[in-house]
Amino acid sequence: MPFSLLGLQPSLIRAVSQKGYLTPTAIQEAAIPAILQGHDVVGSAQTGSGKTAAFALPILQLLQDIQTENAPPGRDTRATRPTRALILVPTRELAAQVGESIQTLMQYSGQSLKMKTLFGGVSINPQMMALRGGADIVIATPGRLLDLLDHNALKISAVAMLVLDEADRLLDLGFADEIGRILALLPKHRQNIFFSATFPPAVEALSKKILNNPKRIAI
Ligand code: AMP
Repeated sequence: MPFSLLGLQPSLIRAVSQKGYLTPTAIQEAAIPAILQGHDVVGSAQTGSGKTAAFALPILQLLQDIQTENAPPGRDTRATRPTRALILVPTRELAAQVGESIQTLMQYSGQSLKMKTLFGGVSINPQMMALRGGADIVIATPGRLLDLLDHNALKISAVAMLVLDEADRLLDLGFADEIGRILALLPKHRQNIFFSATFPPAVEALSKKILNNPKRIAI
């Protein structure tokens, strides 16, 4: 199936073709239409499956729609827009990788959304400064996100889309408590996307806690 049949807007179809993607991967073919329709999605996905674009493309499209609906004509409201999409990842490396992937898609599609990548192991101050202008999309490791929330550097109370990427590794690295604290700060009404390579009982339990009547995608 070509990318053009998944429900994506023309600018994003152009962006994937500029990235050199000819056809969607299996996970993209299944996840993109489901996410665009507003469903929660749980996917069993390995690294290399194309899972990043599977959630990034619909997020970019849905946030663009929100931006267009809310923007008063002729005024740039970027600085005051709240964070709408939160992507939780287990490691700094994955945060950087997902960030680069989304940055390229935004660049190729000509989107002007703001994105920030937040992870531990580096000084918190530059990240606090960077958040002053707001961020439509936040990619974060759980510990650093909580530190920044404790510093009031951002708010997540208007998040409309939550992604847990590599949920099994998030739990393996001991982030269960942090995820619980983050969930308590999110609005109850939101769309949830949950990807994991494996589904041992703890991951299954977390998915049940987060997801609301999800579409299941097993590749
Ligand atoms: P991911 O599983 O998201 O880490 O993606 C693995 C690799 O596949 C990355 O290098 C992507 O740029 C690439 N990729 C993602 N989707 C496609 C696609 N539809 N066609 C070709 N390559 C892709």
